[in-house]
Amino acid sequence: MVVLDYDQASSSSNSNFTFSDSPFFYDRSPSNGGGQALFVDASTTQPHSNPRVSYYHPAGVGDYHYGERHPMKPARLSLTNRLVLAYGLHKHMDVFTPRQATKEELEMFHDSDYVDFLSTVTPSTPPSAAFTRFNFADDCPVFDGMYEFCKAYSGASLAGARKLTSDATDIAINWSGGLHHAKKFEASGFCYVNDIVLAILELLRYHPRVLYIDIDIHHGDGVQEAFYNSNRVMTVSFHKYGNDFFPCTGDVSEIGTGLGKHFCLNVPLQDGIDDGGYVSLFKSVIEPCITTFRPSSIVLQCGADSLGLDRLGCFNLSIAAHGECVRFVKSFGLPLLVLGGGGYTIRNVARCWAYETSVLTGCCIPDTLPHTPYDAFFAPSHRLHEPLQAGRVENQNSKASLEKIRVQILEQLRYLHGAPSVQMQEIPPDLAGAWLDEDSNPLTKDGEPRRDEKD
Ligand SMILES: [Zn+2]
Repeated sequence: MVVLDYDQASSSSNSNFTFSDSPFFYDRSPSNGGGQALFVDASTTQPHSNPRVSYYHPAGVGDYHYGERHPMKPARLSLTNRLVLAYGLHKHMDVFTPRQATKEELEMFHDSDYVDFLSTVTPSTPPSAAFTRFNFADDCPVFDGMYEFCKAYSGASLAGARKLTSDATDIAINWSGGLHHAKKFEASGFCYVNDIVLAILELLRYHPRVLYIDIDIHHGDGVQEAFYNSNRVMTVSFHKYGNDFFPCTGDVSEIGTGLGKHFCLNVPLQDGIDDGGYVSLFKSVIEPCITTFRPSSIVLQCGADSLGLDRLGCFNLSIAAHGECVRFVKSFGLPLLVLGGGGYTIRNVARCWAYETSVLTGCCIPDTLPHTPYDAFFAPSHRLHEPLQAGRVENQNSKASLEKIRVQILEQLRYLHGAPSVQMQEIPPDLAGAWLDEDSNPLTKDGEPRRDEKD
Protein backbone atom coordinates (compact mmCIF):
# COMPACT_ATOMS: atom_id res chain seq x y z
CA MET A 1 0.00 0.00 0.00
CA VAL A 2 1.37 3.39 -0.97
CA VAL A 3 0.56 6.16 1.44
CA LEU A 4 0.82 9.86 1.00
CA ASP A 5 4.21 11.09 2.06
CA TYR A 6 3.64 14.56 3.32
CA ASP A 7 7.29 15.23 3.97
CA GLN A 8 7.84 14.58 0.31
CA ALA A 9 4.88 16.73 -0.63
CA SER A 10 6.04 19.62 1.49
CA SER A 11 9.64 19.42 0.34
CA SER A 12 8.50 19.83 -3.23
CA SER A 13 6.77 23.07 -2.44
CA ASN A 14 10.07 24.53 -1.32
CA SER A 15 11.23 27.09 -3.85
CA ASN A 16 14.70 25.51 -3.83
CA PHE A 17 13.32 22.18 -4.90
CA THR A 18 15.06 20.69 -7.89
CA PHE A 19 14.28 17.69 -10.05
CA SER A 20 17.18 15.64 -8.87
CA ASP A 21 16.06 16.15 -5.27
CA SER A 22 12.90 14.33 -6.07
CA PRO A 23 12.75 10.97 -4.31
CA PHE A 24 11.04 9.46 -7.35
CA PHE A 25 13.52 10.67 -9.88
CA TYR A 26 14.95 7.30 -10.66
CA ASP A 27 16.81 7.23 -13.92
CA ARG A 28 18.25 10.56 -14.90
CA SER A 29 21.77 9.96 -15.98
CA PRO A 30 24.58 12.42 -15.35
CA SER A 31 25.35 14.48 -18.39
CA ASN A 32 28.01 12.79 -20.43
CA GLY A 33 28.76 16.06 -22.11
CA GLY A 34 28.75 14.65 -25.61
CA GLY A 35 25.07 14.69 -26.37
CA GLN A 36 25.27 11.02 -27.28
CA ALA A 37 22.65 8.56 -26.18
CA LEU A 38 23.74 6.52 -23.20
CA PHE A 39 21.75 3.33 -22.97
CA VAL A 40 21.46 0.98 -20.10
CA ASP A 41 20.35 -2.44 -21.20
CA ALA A 42 17.11 -3.11 -19.37
CA SER A 43 18.14 -6.72 -18.96
CA THR A 44 20.95 -5.65 -16.66
CA THR A 45 18.94 -3.20 -14.60
CA GLN A 46 15.52 -4.83 -14.59
CA PRO A 47 16.12 -8.51 -15.24
CA HIS A 48 12.48 -9.44 -14.75
CA SER A 49 10.94 -6.62 -16.71
CA ASN A 50 12.23 -6.37 -20.21
CA PRO A 51 9.02 -5.61 -22.04
CA ARG A 52 8.49 -5.75 -25.76
CA VAL A 53 7.57 -2.23 -26.85
CA SER A 54 5.77 -1.27 -30.08
CA TYR A 55 5.78 2.33 -31.25
CA TYR A 56 3.23 3.79 -33.68
CA HIS A 57 3.84 7.01 -35.58
CA PRO A 58 1.39 7.65 -38.44
CA ALA A 59 3.05 9.07 -41.55
CA GLY A 60 2.65 12.84 -41.79
CA VAL A 61 0.60 13.15 -38.60
CA GLY A 62 2.68 16.13 -37.49
CA ASP A 63 1.95 18.09 -40.65
CA TYR A 64 -1.67 19.04 -39.96
CA HIS A 65 -2.70 22.50 -38.77
CA TYR A 66 -5.77 23.33 -36.74
CA GLY A 67 -5.23 27.00 -37.53
CA GLU A 68 -2.77 29.79 -36.89
CA ARG A 69 -4.00 30.73 -33.42
CA HIS A 70 -5.25 27.36 -32.31
CA PRO A 71 -3.28 25.99 -29.35
CA MET A 72 -3.38 22.38 -30.59
CA LYS A 73 -0.27 21.95 -32.70
CA PRO A 74 0.17 18.52 -34.31
CA ALA A 75 3.77 19.60 -35.03
CA ARG A 76 4.53 18.57 -31.45
CA LEU A 77 4.27 14.98 -32.72
CA SER A 78 7.07 15.61 -35.21
CA LEU A 79 9.22 17.13 -32.45
CA THR A 80 8.56 14.14 -30.22
CA ASN A 81 9.29 11.60 -32.94
CA ARG A 82 12.54 13.33 -33.89
CA LEU A 83 13.73 13.30 -30.28
CA VAL A 84 12.79 9.62 -29.92
CA LEU A 85 14.77 8.73 -33.04
CA ALA A 86 17.73 11.00 -32.24
CA TYR A 87 18.03 9.42 -28.80
CA GLY A 88 18.18 6.05 -30.56
CA LEU A 89 15.13 4.73 -28.74
CA HIS A 90 13.80 3.13 -31.94
CA LYS A 91 16.51 0.51 -31.54
CA HIS A 92 14.72 -0.68 -28.42
CA MET A 93 11.23 -0.89 -29.92
CA ASP A 94 9.39 -2.22 -32.93
CA VAL A 95 8.46 0.88 -34.92
CA PHE A 96 5.32 0.88 -37.06
CA THR A 97 3.69 3.23 -39.54
CA PRO A 98 0.08 2.17 -39.03
CA ARG A 99 -2.68 2.33 -41.61
CA GLN A 100 -5.52 4.75 -41.15
CA ALA A 101 -8.68 3.64 -39.40
CA THR A 102 -11.60 2.93 -41.71
CA LYS A 103 -14.97 4.64 -41.55
CA GLU A 104 -16.44 1.40 -40.27
CA GLU A 105 -13.89 1.31 -37.47
CA LEU A 106 -14.76 4.88 -36.43
CA GLU A 107 -18.43 3.85 -36.38
CA MET A 108 -17.69 1.18 -33.80
CA PHE A 109 -18.18 4.06 -31.34
CA HIS A 110 -19.25 7.16 -33.22
CA ASP A 111 -22.69 7.75 -34.68
CA SER A 112 -22.76 7.28 -38.46
CA ASP A 113 -24.41 10.68 -39.04
CA TYR A 114 -21.53 12.31 -37.19
CA VAL A 115 -18.89 10.34 -39.10
CA ASP A 116 -20.66 11.20 -42.36
CA PHE A 117 -20.33 14.89 -41.52
CA LEU A 118 -16.73 14.50 -40.39
CA SER A 119 -15.82 12.71 -43.61
CA THR A 120 -17.41 15.22 -45.98
CA VAL A 121 -17.06 18.67 -44.40
CA THR A 122 -14.25 20.91 -45.68
CA PRO A 123 -13.05 24.41 -44.78
CA SER A 124 -15.13 25.74 -47.70
CA THR A 125 -18.37 24.05 -46.62
CA PRO A 126 -20.98 26.80 -45.97
CA PRO A 127 -22.03 27.02 -42.30
CA SER A 128 -25.16 25.05 -41.53
CA ALA A 129 -27.10 23.70 -38.58
CA ALA A 130 -24.88 20.61 -38.70
CA PHE A 131 -21.94 22.69 -37.47
CA THR A 132 -23.84 23.47 -34.30
CA ARG A 133 -25.29 19.98 -33.98
CA PHE A 134 -21.83 18.39 -34.11
CA ASN A 135 -20.15 21.16 -32.07
CA PHE A 136 -17.85 22.48 -34.77
CA ALA A 137 -16.83 25.94 -33.58
CA ASP A 138 -13.71 27.69 -32.32
CA ASP A 139 -12.35 24.79 -30.27
CA CYS A 140 -13.04 22.28 -33.01
CA PRO A 141 -12.52 24.03 -36.35
CA VAL A 142 -12.78 22.37 -39.74
CA PHE A 143 -9.25 22.32 -41.13
CA ASP A 144 -7.61 20.88 -44.23
CA GLY A 145 -7.15 17.14 -43.86
CA MET A 146 -9.09 16.95 -40.59
CA TYR A 147 -10.71 13.62 -41.44
CA GLU A 148 -7.39 12.13 -42.58
CA PHE A 149 -5.79 13.32 -39.33
CA CYS A 150 -8.54 11.62 -37.30
CA LYS A 151 -8.22 8.37 -39.22
CA ALA A 152 -4.43 8.49 -38.80
CA TYR A 153 -4.29 8.84 -35.03
CA SER A 154 -7.22 6.46 -34.53
CA GLY A 155 -5.68 3.83 -36.76
CA ALA A 156 -2.53 3.97 -34.65
CA SER A 157 -4.40 3.42 -31.39
CA LEU A 158 -6.36 0.54 -32.91
CA ALA A 159 -3.16 -1.03 -34.24
CA GLY A 160 -1.60 -0.78 -30.78
CA ALA A 161 -4.63 -2.38 -29.17
CA ARG A 162 -4.58 -5.24 -31.69
CA LYS A 163 -0.89 -5.80 -31.12
CA LEU A 164 -1.62 -6.16 -27.41
CA THR A 165 -4.59 -8.50 -27.82
CA SER A 166 -2.58 -10.76 -30.10
CA ASP A 167 0.10 -10.86 -27.41
CA ALA A 168 2.66 -9.64 -29.91
CA THR A 169 3.82 -6.84 -27.62
CA ASP A 170 3.74 -5.87 -23.94
CA ILE A 171 3.54 -2.10 -24.41
CA ALA A 172 2.16 -0.12 -27.35
CA ILE A 173 2.81 3.63 -27.68
CA ASN A 174 0.87 6.13 -29.83
CA TRP A 175 1.69 9.71 -28.92
CA SER A 176 -0.68 10.98 -31.63
CA GLY A 177 -3.66 9.43 -29.83
CA GLY A 178 -5.34 10.13 -26.52
CA LEU A 179 -8.05 12.53 -27.74
CA HIS A 180 -10.26 11.94 -24.75
CA HIS A 181 -12.98 14.60 -25.14
CA ALA A 182 -14.63 13.40 -28.37
CA LYS A 183 -18.18 12.15 -27.90
CA LYS A 184 -20.29 9.61 -29.74
CA PHE A 185 -22.27 12.33 -31.52
CA GLU A 186 -19.98 15.37 -31.45
CA ALA A 187 -16.55 16.93 -31.41
CA SER A 188 -15.27 18.50 -28.20
CA GLY A 189 -12.14 20.12 -26.81
CA PHE A 190 -9.92 19.82 -29.93
CA CYS A 191 -10.98 16.15 -30.28
CA TYR A 192 -13.05 14.78 -33.18
CA VAL A 193 -12.69 11.02 -32.91
CA ASN A 194 -12.21 9.28 -29.59
CA ASP A 195 -9.40 6.86 -30.42
CA ILE A 196 -9.24 5.83 -26.75
CA VAL A 197 -12.78 4.48 -26.74
CA LEU A 198 -12.12 2.69 -30.04
CA ALA A 199 -8.96 1.10 -28.63
CA ILE A 200 -10.66 0.04 -25.40
CA LEU A 201 -13.50 -1.55 -27.38
CA GLU A 202 -10.88 -3.49 -29.31
CA LEU A 203 -9.17 -4.61 -26.09
CA LEU A 204 -12.53 -5.70 -24.66
CA ARG A 205 -12.92 -8.22 -27.45
CA TYR A 206 -10.26 -10.31 -25.73
CA HIS A 207 -9.63 -8.78 -22.32
CA PRO A 208 -12.26 -9.13 -19.57
CA ARG A 209 -11.40 -5.88 -17.83
CA VAL A 210 -9.61 -2.71 -18.94
CA LEU A 211 -8.34 0.02 -16.63
CA TYR A 212 -8.22 3.51 -18.14
CA ILE A 213 -5.95 6.07 -16.44
CA ASP A 214 -5.89 9.72 -17.52
CA ILE A 215 -3.21 12.21 -16.36
CA ASP A 216 -4.12 15.02 -18.76
CA ILE A 217 -4.98 18.21 -16.84
CA HIS A 218 -8.49 18.03 -18.28
CA HIS A 219 -11.10 15.51 -17.21
CA GLY A 220 -11.29 12.47 -19.49
CA ASP A 221 -15.00 13.04 -20.03
CA GLY A 222 -15.45 11.33 -23.39
CA VAL A 223 -14.01 8.04 -22.19
CA GLN A 224 -15.85 8.22 -18.88
CA GLU A 225 -19.15 8.84 -20.64
CA ALA A 226 -18.65 5.96 -23.10
CA PHE A 227 -18.15 3.42 -20.32
CA TYR A 228 -20.21 4.99 -17.54
CA ASN A 229 -22.53 1.97 -17.42
CA SER A 230 -19.81 -0.63 -17.82
CA ASN A 231 -18.19 -2.76 -15.14
CA ARG A 232 -15.61 -4.02 -17.60
CA VAL A 233 -13.88 -0.66 -17.90
CA MET A 234 -12.76 1.28 -14.86
CA THR A 235 -11.95 4.91 -15.68
CA VAL A 236 -9.69 6.94 -13.38
CA SER A 237 -9.02 10.59 -14.23
CA PHE A 238 -6.72 13.03 -12.41
CA HIS A 239 -7.53 16.60 -13.44
CA LYS A 240 -8.08 20.21 -12.54
CA TYR A 241 -11.69 20.72 -11.46
CA GLY A 242 -13.58 23.89 -10.62
CA ASN A 243 -13.80 27.56 -11.67
CA ASP A 244 -15.38 26.51 -14.97
CA PHE A 245 -12.23 24.73 -16.07
CA PHE A 246 -12.95 22.72 -19.22
CA PRO A 247 -14.92 20.44 -19.52
CA CYS A 248 -16.47 21.26 -16.12
CA THR A 249 -17.03 17.58 -15.26
CA GLY A 250 -15.01 15.14 -13.14
CA ASP A 251 -16.26 15.72 -9.62
CA VAL A 252 -15.46 12.97 -7.16
CA SER A 253 -19.20 12.29 -6.96
CA GLU A 254 -19.27 11.00 -10.57
CA ILE A 255 -18.91 7.27 -9.92
CA GLY A 256 -20.75 5.50 -12.76
CA THR A 257 -24.28 4.19 -13.05
CA GLY A 258 -26.07 0.86 -13.35
CA LEU A 259 -23.61 -1.99 -13.63
CA GLY A 260 -20.88 0.62 -13.91
CA LYS A 261 -21.55 2.11 -10.50
CA HIS A 262 -18.23 2.46 -8.61
CA PHE A 263 -16.25 1.63 -11.77
CA CYS A 264 -15.58 5.32 -12.42
CA LEU A 265 -13.16 7.29 -10.25
CA ASN A 266 -12.41 11.00 -10.40
CA VAL A 267 -9.56 12.81 -8.70
CA PRO A 268 -10.41 16.54 -8.86
CA LEU A 269 -7.42 18.79 -8.15
CA GLN A 270 -6.83 22.51 -7.80
CA ASP A 271 -4.29 24.84 -9.42
CA GLY A 272 -0.62 24.44 -8.79
CA ILE A 273 -0.34 20.84 -7.61
CA ASP A 274 3.30 19.91 -7.33
CA ASP A 275 5.37 16.80 -7.91
CA GLY A 276 5.25 15.34 -4.42
CA GLY A 277 1.54 15.78 -3.88
CA TYR A 278 0.59 14.52 -7.32
CA VAL A 279 2.81 11.46 -7.49
CA SER A 280 1.99 10.35 -3.95
CA LEU A 281 -1.73 10.65 -4.59
CA PHE A 282 -1.40 8.95 -7.98
CA LYS A 283 0.33 5.93 -6.52
CA SER A 284 -1.95 5.68 -3.53
CA VAL A 285 -4.99 5.61 -5.84
CA ILE A 286 -3.69 3.53 -8.76
CA GLU A 287 -2.19 0.68 -6.75
CA PRO A 288 -5.47 -0.28 -5.03
CA CYS A 289 -7.34 0.23 -8.33
CA ILE A 290 -5.14 -2.39 -9.95
CA THR A 291 -5.16 -4.83 -7.05
CA THR A 292 -8.93 -4.52 -6.59
CA PHE A 293 -10.21 -4.29 -10.18
CA ARG A 294 -7.55 -6.69 -11.51
CA PRO A 295 -7.50 -5.35 -15.06
CA SER A 296 -6.39 -7.54 -17.96
CA SER A 297 -4.85 -4.50 -19.63
CA ILE A 298 -4.33 -0.78 -19.00
CA VAL A 299 -4.76 2.25 -21.24
CA LEU A 300 -2.77 5.26 -20.03
CA GLN A 301 -3.54 8.71 -21.44
CA CYS A 302 -0.45 10.89 -20.89
CA GLY A 303 -1.72 14.38 -21.68
CA ALA A 304 1.25 16.70 -21.15
CA ASP A 305 -0.81 19.80 -20.33
CA SER A 306 -0.46 18.78 -16.67
CA LEU A 307 3.20 19.90 -16.85
CA GLY A 308 4.31 23.20 -15.42
CA LEU A 309 4.39 26.09 -17.91
CA ASP A 310 1.74 24.59 -20.15
CA ARG A 311 0.03 27.21 -22.30
CA LEU A 312 -3.43 26.10 -21.15
CA GLY A 313 -2.61 24.28 -17.91
CA CYS A 314 -2.10 25.41 -14.32
CA PHE A 315 -0.25 22.58 -12.59
CA ASN A 316 3.44 22.54 -11.58
CA LEU A 317 4.44 19.02 -12.59
CA SER A 318 7.95 18.31 -13.80
CA ILE A 319 8.68 15.94 -16.66
CA ALA A 320 10.29 13.62 -14.11
CA ALA A 321 7.11 13.42 -12.03
CA HIS A 322 4.86 12.96 -15.07
CA GLY A 323 7.19 10.18 -16.19
CA GLU A 324 7.19 8.63 -12.75
CA CYS A 325 3.44 8.05 -13.09
CA VAL A 326 4.15 6.23 -16.36
CA ARG A 327 6.92 4.17 -14.76
CA PHE A 328 4.64 3.24 -11.88
CA VAL A 329 1.88 2.00 -14.18
CA LYS A 330 4.43 0.07 -16.26
CA SER A 331 5.78 -1.59 -13.11
CA PHE A 332 2.63 -3.71 -12.77
CA GLY A 333 3.65 -5.59 -15.92
CA LEU A 334 0.18 -5.65 -17.49
CA PRO A 335 -0.44 -5.19 -21.23
CA LEU A 336 -0.24 -1.43 -21.62
CA LEU A 337 -1.42 1.00 -24.30
CA VAL A 338 0.20 4.42 -23.83
CA LEU A 339 -1.36 7.41 -25.57
CA GLY A 340 -0.72 11.14 -25.82
CA GLY A 341 -3.40 13.77 -25.29
CA GLY A 342 -3.27 17.46 -24.49
CA GLY A 343 -0.09 19.50 -24.24
CA TYR A 344 0.25 23.05 -25.53
CA THR A 345 3.79 24.19 -24.81
CA ILE A 346 5.05 21.98 -27.53
CA ARG A 347 8.77 21.99 -26.72
CA ASN A 348 7.92 20.49 -23.31
CA VAL A 349 5.38 18.05 -24.74
CA ALA A 350 8.12 16.64 -26.95
CA ARG A 351 10.56 16.48 -24.03
CA CYS A 352 7.98 14.73 -21.87
CA TRP A 353 6.91 12.08 -24.36
CA ALA A 354 10.48 11.38 -25.48
CA TYR A 355 11.43 10.89 -21.83
CA GLU A 356 8.43 8.63 -21.26
CA THR A 357 9.40 6.58 -24.31
CA SER A 358 12.75 6.02 -22.59
CA VAL A 359 10.99 5.04 -19.37
CA LEU A 360 8.81 2.52 -21.21
CA THR A 361 11.75 0.98 -23.08
CA GLY A 362 13.86 0.85 -19.93
CA CYS A 363 16.54 3.06 -21.46
CA CYS A 364 18.52 5.70 -19.65
CA ILE A 365 18.95 8.80 -21.80
CA PRO A 366 21.13 11.84 -21.15
CA ASP A 367 19.75 15.18 -20.10
CA THR A 368 21.48 16.87 -23.01
CA LEU A 369 19.14 16.72 -25.97
CA PRO A 370 20.48 15.14 -29.17
CA HIS A 371 20.58 17.27 -32.30
CA THR A 372 17.44 17.35 -34.43
CA PRO A 373 16.13 19.69 -37.13
CA TYR A 374 14.13 21.29 -34.31
CA ASP A 375 17.07 22.38 -32.13
CA ALA A 376 15.78 25.97 -32.07
CA PHE A 377 12.68 24.89 -30.15
CA PHE A 378 14.82 23.65 -27.28
CA ALA A 379 17.14 26.66 -26.98
CA PRO A 380 18.78 27.91 -24.94
CA SER A 381 19.10 25.02 -22.51
CA HIS A 382 18.85 22.06 -24.93
CA ARG A 383 18.08 19.96 -21.88
CA LEU A 384 15.56 17.16 -21.59
CA HIS A 385 14.59 18.01 -18.01
CA GLU A 386 14.01 21.68 -18.57
CA PRO A 387 13.12 23.29 -15.24
CA LEU A 388 9.45 24.20 -15.41
CA GLN A 389 9.40 26.29 -12.26
CA ALA A 390 9.57 29.70 -13.91
CA GLY A 391 5.83 30.00 -14.27
CA ARG A 392 5.11 28.35 -10.97
CA VAL A 393 1.45 28.55 -9.97
CA GLU A 394 0.58 28.81 -6.30
CA ASN A 395 -0.36 25.39 -4.96
CA GLN A 396 -3.99 25.51 -3.87
CA ASN A 397 -4.08 21.84 -2.91
CA SER A 398 -3.63 21.53 0.84
CA LYS A 399 -2.40 18.37 2.49
CA ALA A 400 -5.83 18.02 4.04
CA SER A 401 -7.64 18.34 0.71
CA LEU A 402 -5.46 15.70 -0.94
CA GLU A 403 -5.91 13.36 2.01
CA LYS A 404 -9.68 13.87 1.83
CA ILE A 405 -9.70 12.90 -1.86
CA ARG A 406 -7.56 9.84 -1.17
CA VAL A 407 -9.91 8.64 1.55
CA GLN A 408 -12.96 9.19 -0.68
CA ILE A 409 -11.41 7.16 -3.50
CA LEU A 410 -10.36 4.30 -1.23
CA GLU A 411 -13.84 4.29 0.28
CA GLN A 412 -15.31 3.87 -3.18
CA LEU A 413 -12.94 1.02 -4.02
CA ARG A 414 -14.26 -0.88 -1.02
CA TYR A 415 -17.49 -1.38 -2.97
CA LEU A 416 -15.75 -3.43 -5.63
CA HIS A 417 -14.83 -6.41 -3.44
CA GLY A 418 -13.28 -8.34 -6.25
CA ALA A 419 -13.53 -7.75 -9.94
CA PRO A 420 -16.35 -9.03 -12.11
CA SER A 421 -15.66 -12.09 -14.18
CA VAL A 422 -16.68 -12.44 -17.79
CA GLN A 423 -17.44 -15.33 -20.08
CA MET A 424 -14.78 -14.93 -22.74
CA GLN A 425 -16.80 -16.70 -25.45
CA GLU A 426 -19.05 -13.64 -25.28
CA ILE A 427 -16.84 -11.32 -27.27
CA PRO A 428 -18.60 -8.00 -27.48
CA PRO A 429 -18.90 -6.80 -31.09
CA ASP A 430 -19.34 -3.19 -30.06
CA LEU A 431 -20.17 -0.89 -27.21
CA ALA A 432 -23.53 -2.60 -26.74
CA GLY A 433 -21.58 -5.54 -25.36
CA ALA A 434 -19.18 -3.55 -23.23
CA TRP A 435 -20.64 -4.53 -19.91
CA LEU A 436 -21.28 -7.68 -17.99
CA ASP A 437 -24.49 -9.48 -17.28
CA GLU A 438 -25.72 -8.77 -13.84
CA ASP A 439 -25.21 -12.43 -13.02
CA SER A 440 -21.49 -12.12 -13.46
CA ASN A 441 -21.19 -8.82 -11.60
CA PRO A 442 -20.19 -8.97 -7.95
CA LEU A 443 -22.36 -5.99 -7.17
CA THR A 444 -26.10 -5.82 -6.79
CA LYS A 445 -28.15 -3.15 -8.51
CA ASP A 446 -27.66 -0.97 -5.47
CA GLY A 447 -23.94 -1.21 -5.82
CA GLU A 448 -23.61 -3.36 -2.74
CA PRO A 449 -21.45 -6.48 -2.84
CA ARG A 450 -23.32 -9.71 -3.34
CA ARG A 451 -23.42 -11.78 -0.21
CA ASP A 452 -22.17 -14.87 -2.01
CA GLU A 453 -19.12 -13.01 -3.33
CA LYS A 454 -16.11 -14.34 -1.48
CA ASP A 455 -13.37 -12.05 -2.64
ZN1 LIG B 1 -5.99 18.46 -21.74
